[in-house]
Amino acid sequence: MPTIRIVLLFFLLICFSNSIIAETELPTEQEISKTTDEALKYLKESNFEKSLITSRVALQQALIAKNNNLIAISYNIIAANYNEFSEYDKAIFYYKKALFFANKTTDNILKNRINNNLGNMYCFEKKQYEKGIEFYKKSLEYSKKEKDTALVYLININITWAYFDIGDFKKGIPHFKYIKENYNRDISKSTIVVFYMLSGMYYSYMNDHNKANACFLTAIKEGKAGIEKSDLSYSYLEYSKFLTRIGNYKEAYQYLKEYNNINESIYNEEKLKKAERAGFNLELDEYKRQIGRIEIEKDTQYQSLRKSYIIVLLFILTSCIFLILIVTLYKNIIFKKRTNAQLLFTNEELIKAKEQAEEASVLKTQFISTISHELRTPLYGVVGITNMLLEEHKELARSQHLSSLKFSARYLLSLVNDILQINKIEENKVVLESLTFNISDEINMIKNSLSFLSQKNKNHISVIIDSDIPEYLIGDKLRFAQILMNLVSNALKFTKKGEVFIIANLVKVVEKAHYIEFQIKDTGMGIAAVDQDKIFEKFVQVGRKEEDYQGTGLGLTIVKRLLGLFGSSISLESSIGEGTIFTFTIAFDYDPEKTKSIINEIQVDLTSNQMFKVLVVEDNRINQIVTRKIIEKNNYSCTVVDDGYAALEILEKECFDIILMDINMPLMNGFETTRKIRLKDIKTPIVALTAFDKDEITEEAISAGINDIIIKPFESMKLFKIMNCLIVETKNAG
Ligand code: ADP
Repeated sequence: MPTIRIVLLFFLLICFSNSIIAETELPTEQEISKTTDEALKYLKESNFEKSLITSRVALQQALIAKNNNLIAISYNIIAANYNEFSEYDKAIFYYKKALFFANKTTDNILKNRINNNLGNMYCFEKKQYEKGIEFYKKSLEYSKKEKDTALVYLININITWAYFDIGDFKKGIPHFKYIKENYNRDISKSTIVVFYMLSGMYYSYMNDHNKANACFLTAIKEGKAGIEKSDLSYSYLEYSKFLTRIGNYKEAYQYLKEYNNINESIYNEEKLKKAERAGFNLELDEYKRQIGRIEIEKDTQYQSLRKSYIIVLLFILTSCIFLILIVTLYKNIIFKKRTNAQLLFTNEELIKAKEQAEEASVLKTQFISTISHELRTPLYGVVGITNMLLEEHKELARSQHLSSLKFSARYLLSLVNDILQINKIEENKVVLESLTFNISDEINMIKNSLSFLSQKNKNHISVIIDSDIPEYLIGDKLRFAQILMNLVSNALKFTKKGEVFIIANLVKVVEKAHYIEFQIKDTGMGIAAVDQDKIFEKFVQVGRKEEDYQGTGLGLTIVKRLLGLFGSSISLESSIGEGTIFTFTIAFDYDPEKTKSIINEIQVDLTSNQMFKVLVVEDNRINQIVTRKIIEKNNYSCTVVDDGYAALEILEKECFDIILMDINMPLMNGFETTRKIRLKDIKTPIVALTAFDKDEITEEAISAGINDIIIKPFESMKLFKIMNCLIVETKNAG
């Protein structure tokens, strides 16, 4: 490469500082200049890597400072670096950028240099002479403006060479003339060689062979003395071309060989340089790749650091959670151990308490049954004797004391019965029975039995039964009657001069089950909303007045419990002064087949006009009197014995139609006595007449051979019905 085509840069080598200004600070013009000088210095030292880095820093600073001059200078240096790497396209790209910014300035020298450099690129590297020459001409304009004769000279040389190279001597000659006229020995050695070579080319063109020959030889001589081999090589080539033209082929060949030799060595040197630069390029690439890799690694490291940070955090968190869990677990275990111990202790206590409760429950049941028995026995006497008194002494009917006595006795009796009933339900001793009954008869019977109460309060009872309800149903009619009795008697008690309705409606039928909704409705005093829940509790009576106090406060409790046995519940609608409606539903079975046979068996008349012989086995004197009175009142004969032995004795001698047997007797109880009677093959029907609860003794009574049980105190009608029935049955069987 000829020296003329030297890349024009800045030769201002000012001392530079090592510090590179931080990007963030706005660098001064002077500081940027220092950086560009530094980049230039590195370029001259062939330290391209540093030169590129520094020039980029300078470019960045210049861009921040918006200094077009310095931007152009920086781009020019960057382009020069690429030129050195023979990356001409990149070099052109950056030179053009440099020119773009330089054109914005008034710096003609700068514009001159960049245009010259672009001329070099196009003419001698890209072989686009026209384009290149245009740049040279621009460069020439600027150097002329600056009156820089040295530069004008150099650029004229470049233009001349370009024109001569493409054989356009006409255009090249004016420029050649300039260099010829202004030639002096002060110009560089390299320029001298080129000057003589161009002169040779000129004279050759002018066919002045001698002058041409002399000029070429001077160029070769000067070239040999200089260090720039490329100028010499071009001189050899052009001289060889000249010798060929004039037909001196032998010499032409000789010089071509010289040219080839020198070119080869230049080529080798260039190759070496290129290899070095390529190496550097590779290094640079490797360096960039490394930077990239480092950045990626840094990124991955950062990511993995983040990940490990998260992992560590998670680990700490999980450890904390585990720790908390372990601590909680440990605490739990301790707590569990403690609670277990406590539980064991409480369990033992509970077992003890349960045993005690069971014991207490047994005791309570025993107590209640004993007490009720013990109470019922004297009550039987009290009620019986009061009745006797009233019957025998009609004049006492108006006695306040006697009616009080009767009332108190009846009250006590119902209290005992109620308590016993509740106790039995609570003890789960009540099992519903399945009996066939006529529902309207049952309801009317209740209505009739309460007629005294309705008359007392001047109430009217209406029974409304849905015609869809079958006449005969199967269910526990006794418990049903008890429910109805309680509710209707309440309605009658708490209603004055009003209406009480007993309403039954069929609401649904599921197979055999007929769901009947019963409503007991009154127009009485009503129940306040606040009391509506309370009244179902034991012994709760609302608005109790001494004078009309006729209840135990257990009626609704019994109703609720009994309905519970039916799997039903009771609801209540009431408002003060307007009346009350109690509603409940019971499912009774309807079985036409079963009902038919039962209806046929029903005996229409159980009363008898016959006089029967009755043996009463009773130890209690008062009760003896009461029972005798009842029996004799019905014109039956009555024999009373005090105990079981006496009964056995008399039965040896006498025949009776029926035996009324007390159960709780000293020496020998009713069961024992019955068993002995049956052992003697005496078939006389025996009715247990007892203050015990029926359920309590039924089993033993049947096994002993007792035919029926009547609980004291009893309705005499009921006693006679049972007695007659049994006597007739036995006689028919006999
Ligand atoms: P008691 O033996 O007092 O009737 P109950 O348990 O049967 O006991 O009833 C509790 C209370 O509920 C009664 O004292 C009464 O205040 C109230 N009560 C029950 N039925 C009616 C009703 N039909 N009308 C007004 N109040 C009623």
